Amino acid sequence: CLESKNYQIIVLGGGVAAGYAAFSYVRMGGESNQLAVLSEEPVPPYERPSLSKGFMDPDIRMEPSEFYTCAAIAQLPQDEKWYEEHGVALYLNTRAQQVDVSTKKIISENGHIFHYEKLIIATGCRARKYSPSQVPFSNLDGILYLRNIEDANIVRNWIDELKGQGKAVVIGGGYLAMEITSCLVSNNIQVTMAYPGDYLLNKLFPAQVAKQYEQVFRDKGVELLSNCFVENFYERNDGFASAVRFQDGRKVSGDFFIVCIGAIPNTELFQGQLQLQNGGIEVNHRLQCVGFPDIYAVGDVASFPLKAYSNRPVRIEHVDHSRKSAASAILDILHGNPYGNTKHRDDPRLSIFRAAVDTTYDYVPFYYSRMFDLCWNFYGDSSGTAFVWGYVPSKMVTLWIELSSKVVGILLEGCSPFEHRVAYRVAVNRPKVDTSELQRITEASQVFEY
Ligand code: FAD
Repeated sequence: CLESKNYQIIVLGGGVAAGYAAFSYVRMGGESNQLAVLSEEPVPPYERPSLSKGFMDPDIRMEPSEFYTCAAIAQLPQDEKWYEEHGVALYLNTRAQQVDVSTKKIISENGHIFHYEKLIIATGCRARKYSPSQVPFSNLDGILYLRNIEDANIVRNWIDELKGQGKAVVIGGGYLAMEITSCLVSNNIQVTMAYPGDYLLNKLFPAQVAKQYEQVFRDKGVELLSNCFVENFYERNDGFASAVRFQDGRKVSGDFFIVCIGAIPNTELFQGQLQLQNGGIEVNHRLQCVGFPDIYAVGDVASFPLKAYSNRPVRIEHVDHSRKSAASAILDILHGNPYGNTKHRDDPRLSIFRAAVDTTYDYVPFYYSRMFDLCWNFYGDSSGTAFVWGYVPSKMVTLWIELSSKVVGILLEGCSPFEHRVAYRVAVNRPKVDTSELQRITEASQVFEY
C-alpha cells in the first residue's frame, strides 16, 4: 500500500524554478505545510548556471551548498533546514513516475502518492545526447554531458585528473560550450572546440560579434573548428573514447569529450494529457496550462506567449525567465490574477520580481553568459538587423532594429551597471531610431530617445 500525501500546491521539479517558487511562496506570505517540492535530484534546488562557472573554476571551486537557490538574489542559499523552518516540504530523490491531471495525483518512483490542488510543472530540460545507433561509439566512457550536479561532478573529476596535461574536445558552439571551454582552459587543459555552425553562438551573435569572441578563445590557445557534424567516436583499448570523427573526414583526438548539443524539455509525464507547443507545455499569459487552470508550467519547460512581442509563443531556456515565471505562478496562485491590483506592485517584498509584480506574465527576455573575464548580457529580441559598435574584450554594444526602426534587442559586453539598466529600459520601451543616422555614429547613447 502506497503512502499518500496532500498539498495545496506541488512544485514538480527541483531546479531553479522550483527553488524560486519556494522562495516566492514564503516571501509572499504562503501558509506553512501547504507547499511541497518534488525533486529527483539528491540536493536542494540550486542555481544551475554555477555548474559551468564557480563549480569548475580552479580558484573558486564552489560547492553546491554555496549556490543553492536563491543565492543569486538573496545571498541566502536555501538548504534543507531553510525548507523545514519555512514549512515547505522538500522531497529529494523523488522522481515522479506518473501524473494523472484528471485526478490531480502524482505517483513517485519511491512509492509515494501525492495529491494537489494546484500543480506547478518545473521539470526543466535534460541534456540532448547522442544515441549510439546514430553516432557509433557515442556511449563510451569519457563522453560527457553537463546538466546537473551528477554530470558536473564527473566533469570536475576528469578536470582534476588531467589538469595541466590533458586534452579535451568540446562539441558544440553555444554559450554552454563556450563557458565549459573557459573552465577547462582555466584548469590548464588544452581544448579543441568543434561546432556545427560557421561561427560561435550563431543563434544569437551576428558574425561580426562572434568573430571577436572567437579571437578571445584563440588567444587563450583554444583550437576552433567550425562546420563540424559528428559522424562517430573511436574507442581506446581500455573502453574509453579516444577521438571523434566529423562527417567531412576530420578527426580530433582527446582524453575526454564534453558534448553540448542542446537540451530536451521534460514533458513525457504530460504527453497525451496537456497541450504541447515548441517542444514544451503550452501555457497562457498567467502560465496556466490550456484547459487546466489549476496547472501551471514555468521555466525551461513552458511555452508561453511573449506579450511584448506580439504574443509570439516561445520557450526560453535561461535562468532569469525560470526565476520570474516561478514567482509569477506563485503570485497568481496566492492572490488570484492580480491584474490591475496595484497593491502587489507596490509591495516592496516583490520588487525583485519585476515581471511577476505586473499583471499577467509580461516578460522581457534577459540572458547572460560568463567566460574568462568576459560577461555578455542580452535584453529583448534578436530579430531584425544588427548594428555593432566597439570590440570584445573591451566594450561592445549590438542593437537589433526591426523594419519599423524600433530597437528590439541589445547585447552588451564590458558595460557598466548603469548601461545595463539603460539597456533593459530600451528593451522594454523599444524606442524608434533613425537607422541611416545609426550607420554613421559610433556612440550608442547618442541615438536613444528616452
Ligand atoms: P531545471 O533547472 O533544469 O530544473 C528541472 C528540475 O526538475 C531538475 O531538478 C530535474 O531533475 C527535475 N525533474 C525533471 N523531471 C522530474 C521528475 N519526473 N520528477 C522529479 N523531478 C524531476 N542560463 C542563463 O541565462 N545564463 C547562464 O549562464 C546559464 N548557465 C547554465 C549553465 C549550465 C551548466 C546549465 C545546464 C544551464 C545554464 N543556464 C543558464 C540555463 C538555466 O540554468 C536554466 O534555464 C534553468 O535551470 C531552468 O530552470 P528550470 O527550473 O526550468 O529547470
